Amino acid sequence: MPRTPPEPLREPPTAGLASGIGPSTRIADLDLAWATPASGARLRAVRIAAEALRHRFAAGPRAVSVRTFPIVVLPYPTKYAFFGAALSVAPYVLLTHRCVLVQFLQAGALKTLLFNPTDVPGARATPFFARLAEHVPRRVKALVARESEPLTEQLGHFGLDAVDVDYVAFDHLHAQDLRPILGISAGPDHEGQAPRFPNATLLVPKVEWDEWDDLHPLQRAWFVRDGRAGANTDRIAFTAGDLMLGDGVMLLRTPGHTSGHQTLFVNTSSGVWGVGENGTSADSWSPFESKIAGLRSLCRKQDLDIVMNSNTPVRGADQYTSMVLEKAIADRLKRAPAFAQMFPSSEVTPSLLSLGLKPTILHRAVTHGEVALSGRIQGGIQAVVDVAAMRLAGVNRRTRAAE
Ligand SMILES: [Zn+2]
Repeated sequence: MPRTPPEPLREPPTAGLASGIGPSTRIADLDLAWATPASGARLRAVRIAAEALRHRFAAGPRAVSVRTFPIVVLPYPTKYAFFGAALSVAPYVLLTHRCVLVQFLQAGALKTLLFNPTDVPGARATPFFARLAEHVPRRVKALVARESEPLTEQLGHFGLDAVDVDYVAFDHLHAQDLRPILGISAGPDHEGQAPRFPNATLLVPKVEWDEWDDLHPLQRAWFVRDGRAGANTDRIAFTAGDLMLGDGVMLLRTPGHTSGHQTLFVNTSSGVWGVGENGTSADSWSPFESKIAGLRSLCRKQDLDIVMNSNTPVRGADQYTSMVLEKAIADRLKRAPAFAQMFPSSEVTPSLLSLGLKPTILHRAVTHGEVALSGRIQGGIQAVVDVAAMRLAGVNRRTRAAE
C-alpha cells in the first residue's frame, strides 16, 4: 500500500506565541521532525519537512524590502570558521558582521524588522574578544576591528528613523549587549538609558534567553557577562518553535551553535534567502564546490556535506541538521547554482590577515524591493497602499513567470 506522508501538526495559528508578536502564525511543519529521538533519523526527517515547507514559503508572498548594513569587521580563529578543515597558516580570518533590514506586511500593515543590530561597544566585552584584544597590538587592532557608520545613521540614508523599527531579533545572543537595545530604567544609584529603538519589540527564543542564566562552559566565552543586567524587559516577546512573522518572512529554530539559534528566511525577487551564523561563508554549505584548500578533502574523509562554524560544539549534530534545513529552504544562487543563498551574518572576508584563504563565493549584501517610508512620514493609508501595490506587482511577476 502506498504510504502517505504524515500531515503537519495542526495547532491554532497563534498557539504558543507570546503577546507583542502581532498577528504572526506559528509554523508546526517541523515539530514532529525535530522531536525524532535518534540524530540520524532526525536529520532525515528535518530535511524532508524543510523541503515541504520551502515549497509553501517560496510560493507565497514576498517581503516588501531587504537591505544589509555592515556593522563591524572582526578577527576570528580560522579553525572555528571552517571546523578545522581549512588548510591555512593564518590563525585568524576576518569576519564582516552585518545587520539585515526586512520590511514586510503583517496582516496588511507594514512592519520593519532589524535582524542583528549588534551594539559594537557592548560586543567588545564578550570574554573571548576582550581576551583576544589584550594580545593584539594597538596598530593591528585599528586594522582588524573596523567599525562601520552607526546603524541608525545608515538607516537614515533610507529615510528611516529608530522609531520606525517594529521588531528587533538576533540569530543568537553571542556577543550581544542588550542594554543599549532595550534600555535601562533609572534606579537610586544609576541613571536610566533610553532604548535605541523605542517602538521595537525584541523577539527572542525563550530557550536562548534562559540559557544565558546558566551557561555551559563551552558557551561562556561567547556571551557578554552582564549583557542584559537591569535591561527593560517590557518589550520582549519570547518565542518557541518556528514563526511566520508576516508575508515572506519566517524565523525558524536552527539549534546547535546555541540552543536557541534561529535563522531568518526571506522571500525576495531573487528567491529565498536565509540569514544566520551556523556557517561563516557560502562555502560552509557547499564544501565540495569550495576552492578553500582543505574543505573538500575533510568532507570526503569524514563523509560530510556541510562545514560548521565550530566555536561552540555543544550540540554539533543539531547544528549540522540545522544547516541541512537551511540549505533545503534557501534558493540556489543564480550566478553560481552550486551555492545556497545562505547569508552568514558574520561572513569570512578576504584580507591581508589570511592571504590565500578566500571564500569561493562572497554574498556581501542582499537587496530586494524599495525601502518603504513609514506611515509616520508618508501618511499611513498611502504607505499601506504603496506596499500592497508592490506586493501585487510581485505576485503578478511570479504568475507571469509561471505561465
Ligand atoms: Zn556565535
